[in-house]
Order: sequence, then structure tokens, then C-alpha cells
Amino acid sequence: MPEFLQRRYWVFDLDGTLTLPVHDFEHIRAELGLPSGADILTTLARLPEPEKAHQYARLDELELLYAARTQPAPAVVELLALLSERGCRLGILTRNSRAVALRSLEAIGAGRFFAPGNVLGRDEARPKPDPQGIEQLLQCWRARPQQAVMVGDFRYDLEAGRACGTATIHLDHGVHPGWPELTDLRVTSLAQLLEMLI
Ligand SMILES: [Mg+2]
Repeated sequence: MPEFLQRRYWVFDLDGTLTLPVHDFEHIRAELGLPSGADILTTLARLPEPEKAHQYARLDELELLYAARTQPAPAVVELLALLSERGCRLGILTRNSRAVALRSLEAIGAGRFFAPGNVLGRDEARPKPDPQGIEQLLQCWRARPQQAVMVGDFRYDLEAGRACGTATIHLDHGVHPGWPELTDLRVTSLAQLLEMLI
């Protein structure tokens, strides 16, 4: 078992990591009139007002819609319960809004594992791959990156962890080729990660 699995500070991506990957980003892009494959947050940030505010509001609506339909990733509650029992501090860093993230966490039965202040959305920190959100959580926990782990299913999660200096775990759904250069540990499910922790 890698040494870093013993660490006490864990930051998770939300969508597709703690939840099943149901976010249909192409559908969201289409609804917002963005080109296929465009980075949604970067594209919206560059829009002039009032279109920008309008598009952000529309994005919030679409995301709340998805949040209500969120399904838990298998073994997510067991994994978070184990880490909590071991005294780990748990945080979320998501490109969603905090409100949507909290709603999703409730929908999957994981709300009790996260203090709302430890759930950082796009209004609390610069979006991944910027490491600012992880740094903010570590500062709040008075922890160093060498005591922390970042878990996520996308390149941005791993890049944010790398940039901050945490260990990185890639939850690999097999839809991307993977990023070995950014990954300290690759698992194909949270159940596999749970097994390694027991
Ligand atoms: Mg994700």
C-alpha cells in the first residue's frame, strides 16, 4: 500500500468521483450555445456583461437539475465513513457552485462527511487545474501538501494536486487515456481504493 494512503487530509473532486459521471457536458454546452469541447467556465468568464451573468445563471439552473439526479459512486459512503473514523479531514473542490455541490452530496447520502466550509466551488476558489482551492483547504486545516491527497477522475484534478504538491489518485473510468505523469495511484473504482485502505 502506498505510504500516502495513511495521510489525514483528503480533497475530492465531486462529479464523476464521488458521484456517478452523469454530467453531460456536451448537453450543457449545447444548452449554453457553446462550441463542442469548449471549457465551459473559461468560455463564460470571457463573455461581456450582461450575457455573462445570464449564462452563469443558466449554468446554475442546469447544474441544479443534474444535482437532483445525482447517483452515488459505489462504495462512496463506506469510503468516506472509514476516512472519517480514522480522523481524516475531508474536503471537496469542484468546478460546480457550492450550492449545487451541497445538494449533490445530500443526494448521495454523503453530506454529513463534509463541513459546508470545506466544500469549495467555483465562487470560493479559482477553478481547477488551479491549485488555489486545495491550498485554501490545507491552510484552513493547517496542513501541508505532503500530508494531503487529491482524488479525481479528470486531468484538472490531478494537475491541481500536482501543482499544490499533494499525492494524486486518479479514479479512472477508462474513458480517457490516463495521465500517468500526473498520477501517483490509479484506481478504477472507489471500492478498489476502499479495499486498499482496509
Ligand atoms: Mg470529475
